[in-house]
Amino acid sequence: MQTAEEATRAPEIEAMTPAAAAHCAEAAALRAEIINVGRKLWERRYVDGNGGNISVRLGANYVLCTPTMMSKRDLEPDDICLSDLDGNILAGDRPRTSELFLHLEIYKANSRARAVVHCHPPYATAFAMTGTAPPIGLISEYEIFIGPAAVAPYQTPGTRAFAESVLPFVEDHNTILLTNHGIVCWADTATHAEWLAEILDTYCKTYLIARQIGQPLKPIADDKIGEILALKQRLGFPDARMHRIKEP
Ligand SMILES: [Zn+2]
Repeated sequence: MQTAEEATRAPEIEAMTPAAAAHCAEAAALRAEIINVGRKLWERRYVDGNGGNISVRLGANYVLCTPTMMSKRDLEPDDICLSDLDGNILAGDRPRTSELFLHLEIYKANSRARAVVHCHPPYATAFAMTGTAPPIGLISEYEIFIGPAAVAPYQTPGTRAFAESVLPFVEDHNTILLTNHGIVCWADTATHAEWLAEILDTYCKTYLIARQIGQPLKPIADDKIGEILALKQRLGFPDARMHRIKEP
């Protein structure tokens, strides 16, 4: 949700040239956040080699994003690119990631998405290998932050079909498994989008451990799921089950 401060600040960024926008104080703060999120992804082993990418919206027309062919551990402020919503690089020396188009489709389809993180966390990606999402209704925090994760069909990375594969899901899901590839999460900030990756991967890991205990899993009662949905509605979190508590 846009704050009053953002509402007054955003037009200033729109009035700037791309070069001025790239060097404004807000851009510097967002670059620092992207670098911090990149280090977290690498330290948690959610990105290998040059894998994964991070982007953040800057005002209404610009996006800051990670470059191609760089480890997310090693990013410096000058490595972060400034793009428009069509993927044209407006500032920055390095070429942007080809997967930026996935991020841009999410931004264009859902104005609540202000940051996108794409990565390959092992336990969530194991589910992506099966083309299925983990079962729901087993851990309260997972239900609150994510709930039912979507599963987008496989498409070749970097293609338009890949970028558009998430479109049916971005309104009701902040976390999407990309079949045979990895995951993508959107939120109000890059920090929060990275939290979703952590919450999903830990949930997938814990689920697989629980399956080995040999006891049946005990689901959260349905009326308690209703209470969680009411909480998510107050927090402004998406959930594909929200129709259950909305007025007919
Ligand atoms: Zn990827």
